[in-house]
Amino acid sequence: MKFADLGLIPEVQRAVAEAGYTEPTPIQQQAIPIILQGNDVMGGAQTGTGKTAGFTLPLLNRLAPLATSSTSPARHPVRALILAPTRELAMQVHEAVQTYSKYLPLRATCIYGGVDMNAQIQELRRGIEIVIATPGRLLDHVQQKTINLGQVDMLVLDEADRMLDMGFIPDIRRILALLPAKRQSLLFSATFSDEIKKLADQMLKNPQLIEVARRNMVSETITHRVHPVASGLKRNLLAHLLRHQPDDQVLVFVDTKFACSRLANFLERHAIAADSIHGDKSQQQRTETLEAFKSGKVRVLVATDVAARGLDIDDLPYVINFELPHTAEDYIHRIGRTGRAGRLGNAVSFVCSEEKGRLAEIEKLVKLQIPQEVVPGYDPEPDFFDAGHKRKRGGRSSGGDAPAPQAPRPPKSDDIRRPGRPQESRRSGGRKSTVAPDGFDFNRPYEPSSAAILASEGADASAKAGETSSPSRHKRPIAFLLGGLGRKQA
Ligand code: AMP
Repeated sequence: MKFADLGLIPEVQRAVAEAGYTEPTPIQQQAIPIILQGNDVMGGAQTGTGKTAGFTLPLLNRLAPLATSSTSPARHPVRALILAPTRELAMQVHEAVQTYSKYLPLRATCIYGGVDMNAQIQELRRGIEIVIATPGRLLDHVQQKTINLGQVDMLVLDEADRMLDMGFIPDIRRILALLPAKRQSLLFSATFSDEIKKLADQMLKNPQLIEVARRNMVSETITHRVHPVASGLKRNLLAHLLRHQPDDQVLVFVDTKFACSRLANFLERHAIAADSIHGDKSQQQRTETLEAFKSGKVRVLVATDVAARGLDIDDLPYVINFELPHTAEDYIHRIGRTGRAGRLGNAVSFVCSEEKGRLAEIEKLVKLQIPQEVVPGYDPEPDFFDAGHKRKRGGRSSGGDAPAPQAPRPPKSDDIRRPGRPQESRRSGGRKSTVAPDGFDFNRPYEPSSAAILASEGADASAKAGETSSPSRHKRPIAFLLGGLGRKQA
């Protein structure tokens, strides 16, 4: 199918062609004709599916007949309202609206909190047809009577599930009460809880349901992997993996703002270009950080869930969950930053003993048993495999595995220094060995090696030569990890 087959006006088609899109994505193929007909939509689509263009293109198409080049503000009432949960998402939607409306005399603006209201007030006074807003700041403008929503024909609620998580539903209800009853409404959400369905019932009239991926499911182009690791070793493991992945950019998720800055500083101290993005940073800092990441100046972006919401970064091959999210649905949101628009992606999670319950919830939700791999030298807490995944210690397995080599020295949590020449720190069997301060042996090949896995399963540095362990589901070639890293995705 081509964009030309969807009934879009030439001005919109031209902007889409200039954006480089040749074919509409599945959500666009489904949503565009329905929205053009004026129907309400309940859209189940994750970020990365092209949903923004899916609602923006038909929205522009429907507003186009009302567009005017008149300079009178009165001729430019707010006709479309797009609500987004975060500033970043609002800004990205605004950017998309600007891109696709470049050949139409429609005005759009973005209003969000954390910045001075005056510039937004000036902008709104000019007369604006399309307002993209976060709920709190929009209500501030309503209260100050600097915006009039009485002529809104189209409402879009983007990422409704996140609105719910962030406690915005009461604000949304207040906003709904300010809008004309006769309007077209579109609601998009990656997941549909009962609460979202209740909201949809209030907001939508005879909605058409469109869904591009199965509910609560994740993109099939993403490879998931868990590294069981003790919590105190996580940051060393991260630095270790990043060193062996010199080209790719990585988005790392942590739970708290504090952990976010700390981890970014830790990586910076170890010569890995990193920055953090979280709610305590000013809007300008967040925008600059995001730009630096998009331009490749920053290789690793450490983020909290809220700050990362809606980040649209092209071709991001890796998302690392430094800590697992507290709600399983956030796992879907987080890893939605990779494997976008049909590209390949990798979702890597560091899981310590305490997080096993969260992992089980995630596996239940995504209906996947995620492969587990222990990276040699970065073992989990001894009780990690207690329930169901016990590793055998001592003796030889009946499979006649090769004897395990000496395990790498387990790193201490602060024991990563700047990379450079690997230190010649130990000799083994007369052969000179080059071992990094974090225990990584630079001479060890990355090929699949059962020995390497066995070394990891030897659990600790006291693993005795000759000890083997039985196969378990986390036993996968380490090359799967390291071989994958650094390789550009198609
Ligand atoms: P979204 O799901 O709206 O966040 O979009 C994800 C990414 O897909 C964005 O970078 C869009 O620019 C891109 N995109 C949207 N529609 C298309 C299309 N038809 N062809 C190729 N890329 C697209």
